[in-house]
Amino acid sequence: MAACEGVTPRAVTTGRVPVVGMVGAGQLARMTHRAAIDLGLTLRVLADAPDDSAARVTPDVVVGNYRDLADLRRFAAGCDVVTFDHEHVPPEHLAVLAGEGVVLRPGPAALRHAQDKRALRETCDELKLPAPQWVPVGSAGDVARLGYPVVCKAVRGGYDGRGVWVVHSPGEVERLLATGTALLAEELVPLRRELSAVVARSPAGQAAAYPVVETVQSDGICVEVLAPAPGLGEERASAAQELALRVAAELDVVGILAVELFETVSGELLVNEFAMRPHNSGHWTIEGADTSQFEQHLRAVLDLPLGSPRMPARWVAVANVLGGADPDVFARLPEVLARDPGVKVHLYGKHVRPGRKIGHVTAAGDALGEVRTRASAAAACLRGPG
Ligand code: ADP
Repeated sequence: MAACEGVTPRAVTTGRVPVVGMVGAGQLARMTHRAAIDLGLTLRVLADAPDDSAARVTPDVVVGNYRDLADLRRFAAGCDVVTFDHEHVPPEHLAVLAGEGVVLRPGPAALRHAQDKRALRETCDELKLPAPQWVPVGSAGDVARLGYPVVCKAVRGGYDGRGVWVVHSPGEVERLLATGTALLAEELVPLRRELSAVVARSPAGQAAAYPVVETVQSDGICVEVLAPAPGLGEERASAAQELALRVAAELDVVGILAVELFETVSGELLVNEFAMRPHNSGHWTIEGADTSQFEQHLRAVLDLPLGSPRMPARWVAVANVLGGADPDVFARLPEVLARDPGVKVHLYGKHVRPGRKIGHVTAAGDALGEVRTRASAAAACLRGPG
């Protein structure tokens, strides 16, 4: 299942410790910093505030606004390569930076597909990728072809299900349009479940594919990841990996690419969306794969040879820790660690707010039911009441 293919990449030889800049200082940057330590690299982060998740642990922090070109320039100066822990940098700023010689990986043309759902759907059509039927929405009449209920999505700026609405009438579409949000509409796919195919690609064209995973969602937030996706079958798992590798190559993605997929009740796989950065569906790789997605992302953006995506354990389950009513997570940590010395707890150092992703727990083993129960029990205990 694990695949490494492509040519031998060139190494980056700068004669000094390479500096990878990551725009954003959330948990993805924080976990990338861990991997940077192992590889002896410097990770510089562009943080909104000094107490951002990654800014608390990395020494090389630039505090600034990722929407401000001057701040982006200040941050990029001295970086060998700039990459991202989110996709919200304005495309016009990315174009300016690229024009000034800043090495952006992934580049603006690829990244557009993670920033703009309309560009994503147009490219799915051009590449003939299996995807939900969709229409751009200028008025409620445009939606008629798909029928109701229908899924309306903000073209830009959505995450964790914000910017996605199941809509039942033209009146509701008009109300969304009246807010000034650019919209598209998609058929409401009859879902069996959601999957994610995570791959990495380097500028030299080397690629590696992780086992396809199942992502369990609740209210638009991923709450659990199961690796590999139970019962998917080798053929469809390979098809999903090949689809993701093809997208990475066609769009010239550099770094991690997560292709979020819908499995329909009839067993079809449809593309939901792309993320071009380490992804929540790949956190299991920290303990569950020979090379974590964070290390793989760093290797890829520096054009270093990629690591093995092989999975030594039979099953790995990740349960996300969401904030509960009582923010004192550390009061509950001793109990979690004592109850199950085998689970791995990752807390992101974020302020606890109800429903906010503040960490995850990983369990690996030979029996799927057992690793699921262990990871979920630990995550629930950390969350606490409410
Ligand atoms: P975000 O960018 O906020 O993550 P997504 O486009 O991934 O938004 O949608 C969030 C969730 O909404 C998906 O994980 C899925 O559960 C549901 N969803 C999105 N599009 C559809 C669709 N066309 N049909 C059915 N469910 C959908």
